[in-house]
Amino acid sequence: MAEIPNLTFSNGHKMPVFGIGTYQSRAGDVEKAVSEAINLGYRHIDTAYYYQNEKEIGQAVRAKIEDGTVKREDLFITTKLWNSFHKEESVVPACKKSLENLGLSYVDLYLIHWPFAFKEGGDLLPKDENGVLQMTDTDYLETWRGMEECARLGLARSIGISNFNSEQITRLLGVAKILPVNNQIEVNVNLNQKPLIDFCKKHNITVTAFSPLGQPGNRAGIPNSLDNPKIVDLSKKYNKTPAQIALRYVLQHGISIIPKTVTPSRLKENMNIFDFSLTDEEMAAIASIGTGQRVSRFGDAKGHKYYPFEVAV
Ligand code: NDP
Repeated sequence: MAEIPNLTFSNGHKMPVFGIGTYQSRAGDVEKAVSEAINLGYRHIDTAYYYQNEKEIGQAVRAKIEDGTVKREDLFITTKLWNSFHKEESVVPACKKSLENLGLSYVDLYLIHWPFAFKEGGDLLPKDENGVLQMTDTDYLETWRGMEECARLGLARSIGISNFNSEQITRLLGVAKILPVNNQIEVNVNLNQKPLIDFCKKHNITVTAFSPLGQPGNRAGIPNSLDNPKIVDLSKKYNKTPAQIALRYVLQHGISIIPKTVTPSRLKENMNIFDFSLTDEEMAAIASIGTGQRVSRFGDAKGHKYYPFEVAV
């Protein structure tokens, strides 16, 4: 297997450009998938408090450390702060809760999952009696102070953001004492995000692509373009699957990718993309078929002052 390269953060820490995503990976499946991924050479694991699988992932990771397959320092583990813990004083306890779930003393990267906040408390998606999502206007700049405290306490080696737009990043960079090293955003054939990726790179913020396959079978019903004739032709040319062409396309934006699968054959398939590259012309041809459709829109939060997708970049 070809070596997986790293991206280097502005603080010097390194992140493998390829990892396993775990959104919607359920208990029972996720332990096996993470364990098998580590056996295959995956070293980057992405989870979130919201996914409610930190405990299972932690069990699998600790078992692979205990059996000598890897050391903790060989792994890069990301988790994310959920929207109902955005008050400054809630952030460190939320991070500690994730670490307790994982059974780890630190994560490599802790991200603010979304820029907007929900009513504090137990519910992941707090709703009022009319079924309306209960949001608050807690400022993500306040949340960031809590994130910085997580870094200072050594609970997170690095801190970053997810689903932030360029205006929100600019505002954050204006006050941050510890800089965000990463923005995790949706990037796939439909949504190549070149302007936001360029913006992040200019500000020394690495990008991780979520839903790099366009989340096939997504609830929003967004087609993922993997059956587009251009992708299919390239898959024949390189003797790769359409999914491998799509992943290689996203990777070649100079970013990290975290495709999710719980299927053993796909764990292998998805990582087998480091032995070929697409030409500039092929990259442009794939860019031209992008529909601009977003899988992850969080439509219930539309209208919130920190909803990130109302601005162009
Ligand atoms: P992906 O684009 O990774 O697609 C995952 C889906 O594709 C699953 O249904 C999987 O099925 C299927 N799949 C995986 N490999 C292949 C393949 N080779 N061929 C065909 N189908 C395949 O979507 P995700 O939304 O899961 O994104 C990846 C990760 O990014 C998430 O798991 C999560 O960790 C993160 N994420 C972060 C978000 C954020 O807001 N920060 C939002 C969304 C995701 P199966 O498992 O059955 O094999």
